[in-house]
Amino acid sequence: MTQPSEHGEGASEAPRSVDAALAQRYADVTGRIAEAARAAGRAPDEITTIVVTKFHPASLVRQLVQLGAQHVGESRHQDAAPKAAELAGEPLTWHFVGQLQSNKARAVGEYCSVIHSVDRTSLVDALHRAERPLDVFLELDLSGQPGRGGVQPEHVEALAESVLQSGLLRLRGLMAVAPLGAEPREAFARLRGYSDRVRALAPEASELSAGMSGDFAEAIAEGATHLRIGTAITGERPSPR
Ligand SMILES: *Cc1c(COP(=O)(O)O)cnc(C)c1O
Repeated sequence: MTQPSEHGEGASEAPRSVDAALAQRYADVTGRIAEAARAAGRAPDEITTIVVTKFHPASLVRQLVQLGAQHVGESRHQDAAPKAAELAGEPLTWHFVGQLQSNKARAVGEYCSVIHSVDRTSLVDALHRAERPLDVFLELDLSGQPGRGGVQPEHVEALAESVLQSGLLRLRGLMAVAPLGAEPREAFARLRGYSDRVRALAPEASELSAGMSGDFAEAIAEGATHLRIGTAITGERPSPR
């Protein structure tokens, strides 16, 4: 993985220490994002791509930095913490995108500056107690089947209020995963509708964290500002340890 490929065609601009297939996927996805943005009448540079590197080693993240990645996303604290420590000198913003237990909030806030998975007031309280000016997205459950993470839409405004009251956390907007089997564009349109409600309370909370490897074009069409893209860039994920 860290060895340079002997056949670097199509990725000739990549530094030699970067895997050619990784460079190719990175360039391909970057191009597709720009294309989807233009198709939606948006500027590609208003969209932030977070490369989700969960369960991949620090060496892969280093290669992504060489390719120009500035944002990485992780979903499990015990996997992410040592990686973030090893990569502390790299110019990266770390995002936490997975379900977060309140008792890990303080530790995650040590290396992540943006939390995308805030879905309950007890977690808001725990993040507040971490005494760091973290940026947060509220994760919305669009499946209608509680239990897999995400606040139910009817409670999103109350949750937004609790973030606003903390005075320390900065509310950036809403996050969601398109439900399995649903039409992603329709799901992201609903997310956009809930975003309008939250913006009535907090006009600055206008950002949308939506879109993964299989549905980022649909998310861009519905106004996503932050894409969370894993496998389309990294290739297949190692199994969780
Ligand atoms: C893993 C993960 C992603 C990336 O998924 P891919 O399908 O690999 O792009 C995005 N968001 C969350 C919350 C994830 O857990």
